[in-house]
Amino acid sequence: MILIVGGAGYIGSHTNKALNEAGYETVVLDNLSYGHEESIKWGEFCKCDLANIDDVDEVFNKYDITAVMHFSSFIDVGESVTNPEKYYTNNVVNTMNLLHVMLKHNVKKFIFSSTCATYGVPQKIPLVEDHPQNPINPYGMTKLMVEKILKDYDNAYGLKSVILRYFNASGADESGEIGEWHNPETHLIPLILDAAIGKREDIKIFGTDYDTEDGTCIRDYIHVTDLADAHIRALKYLEDENTSNEFNLGNGVGFSVRQVIESAKKVTGRDFKVEETKRRPGDPAVLIGSSKKAKDTLGWNPQYTDIDDIIKTAWIWHQKLNK
Ligand code: UDP
Repeated sequence: MILIVGGAGYIGSHTNKALNEAGYETVVLDNLSYGHEESIKWGEFCKCDLANIDDVDEVFNKYDITAVMHFSSFIDVGESVTNPEKYYTNNVVNTMNLLHVMLKHNVKKFIFSSTCATYGVPQKIPLVEDHPQNPINPYGMTKLMVEKILKDYDNAYGLKSVILRYFNASGADESGEIGEWHNPETHLIPLILDAAIGKREDIKIFGTDYDTEDGTCIRDYIHVTDLADAHIRALKYLEDENTSNEFNLGNGVGFSVRQVIESAKKVTGRDFKVEETKRRPGDPAVLIGSSKKAKDTLGWNPQYTDIDDIIKTAWIWHQKLNK
């Protein structure tokens, strides 16, 4: 069985669906602090907190777990600056608890949700996996710390891991049955759709004086279904090769904040107010990933490359969520 830690969350719930469709049996471990029980539509579910080692141990006693995918981390960059303890405790200490129980039960296959935020300010675009990693906020630092821990645990204990560094996860499963559901919401696309649906009075652009063509930040938006597919490929890679590795997961194409807003207006057919405001601290002007390595090694080929198509799927879900 595959253990999905954080399987009630956004990327975890999509990966849970993909794993079940690919014929794997899954068990979701989640404390539901941010995830939603309604999003666990496949496999078994254990409500459990990684802070409680004995409870995690019970889950490993109960199920025959062969590999672990770990999605449950805090992701709000701004909050990680104002409350780093919350981030180091959950994202690092709780991950170590999970690894501790895995080693105790001799489970040595691990797929870790990391982030392009581990690179910090890019020296060269597109970002490749061996770009220096100098995070500029505690969130990115927590992810980098776990990456380093995983390297040492491989050397010492033979725990094999695939580290997946996501760019901007976006969109929703085409069925509309699961999607992005954060509370509070901080991400660009769902906030724009909130404005489109009338839940917010406007969308604010954080900075229009960046050194980009239209002055707004450029990001690499990657569809959550493509991310889920990459996890299955990573799992097969671990099963076949039994080697640790790390991969960027992005589209290799960037869209500016203004382009995303324009796309959302077109897709939804709704107009809404756009307000230009000052920069959000810690935002690099451009983040675009090279996923050549994931393509060459895992055979991964993202299906959603067009921002309109990505937003279409997000819109289907967003309307359903706000009915
Ligand atoms: N952004 C914005 N207004 C918002 C939220 C985000 O202009 O209300 C910008 C943000 O500054 C960044 C991009 O949109 O350049 C994507 O931000 P998001 O928080 O979605 O993802 P991140 O890039 O931080 O992972």
